[in-house]
Amino acid sequence: MNPILYIVVPCYNEEAVLPETARRLREKLEQLMGRGAISPASRVLFVNDGSKDRTWPLICQLHAQSHLMCGIDLTRNRGHQNALLAGLMTAKDRADAVISMDADLQDDINAVDAMVDKFREGVDIVYGVRSSRKRDSFFKRTTAEGFYRLMNLMGAETVFNHADYRLMSRRALEGLSQFREVNLFLRGIVPMIGYRTDTVEYERGERFAGQSKYPLGKMLSFAVEGITSLSVKPLRMITGLGFLIFLVSLGMIFYNLVRWMGGNTVTGWASLSCSLWLLGGLILLSLGVIGEYVGKLYLESKARPRFLIREIVGDEQPPKD
Ligand code: UDP
Ligand code: MG
Repeated sequence: MNPILYIVVPCYNEEAVLPETARRLREKLEQLMGRGAISPASRVLFVNDGSKDRTWPLICQLHAQSHLMCGIDLTRNRGHQNALLAGLMTAKDRADAVISMDADLQDDINAVDAMVDKFREGVDIVYGVRSSRKRDSFFKRTTAEGFYRLMNLMGAETVFNHADYRLMSRRALEGLSQFREVNLFLRGIVPMIGYRTDTVEYERGERFAGQSKYPLGKMLSFAVEGITSLSVKPLRMITGLGFLIFLVSLGMIFYNLVRWMGGNTVTGWASLSCSLWLLGGLILLSLGVIGEYVGKLYLESKARPRFLIREIVGDEQPPKD
């Protein structure tokens, strides 16, 4: 039997792109159904992430025009990762495979065919990987690539140049549902699931309308989020740094003793004040990093729900089992 495919699209203030995105995704689904690659029960699932514009009424309208379009409405804005998770967890019970992509069509939807083919060959997770970033602005490209390098350096293993454009099988999603973290960074968690994985290359286009919802500030906090929720490497680096400085200070003590024995006691307040500042800075930095982790523990211990759904449209298909 042909697999049921769900395409999950998180949307935050995307009224400018939605009609076109819906049109192209619908075409893609129909084309895939036409060549018998997916079941006619396949759907596109839009997740409205507490948009302030007309995104939700638009999604309802799209559903009224075509039964292939469904939507879920979150109770408020929860951020890209949580919106995506809401979509994936809703789709998991209804589909055999789920593809996630952004609403702005920056990810080439023609890569969907290759993803579905790989899934049919038995691959559980197919990562969409950007072959080049030619069309991103210089600034976006360097900051984004720096982001991946920093992440990997800090011990958060991610797939290079892969954003959240990927296909996951139902059992991979079942695996994902067992990761209960509130500080969610899907790109880092998905590789931990395992199973057979593969990649599909595609070219990343420009956002064809509307503004990026990821300005530099948000991207930086996303990077800190990702690193601190995935790895304890920064804590280890602090330990290493502390040890190194301790060694240096041992050397200093030895040096000072030798000078003192030589009767050479120069009052070196410059070096003293410098080291004071240096140590003060390092201590504050270290406290800050530890604070990040303590903050994470605090949030995890609360185990708040990661998303709440207000309404689902187009759910005439009851969940499979
Ligand atoms: N998005 C979301 N909630 C948010 C911010 C963004 O659901 O709080 C969605 C947005 O609608 C889009 C995707 O996340 O579908 C990626 O955002 P965007 O394209 O603005 O990011 P960029 O491609 O510039 O990194
Ligand atoms: Mg985008």
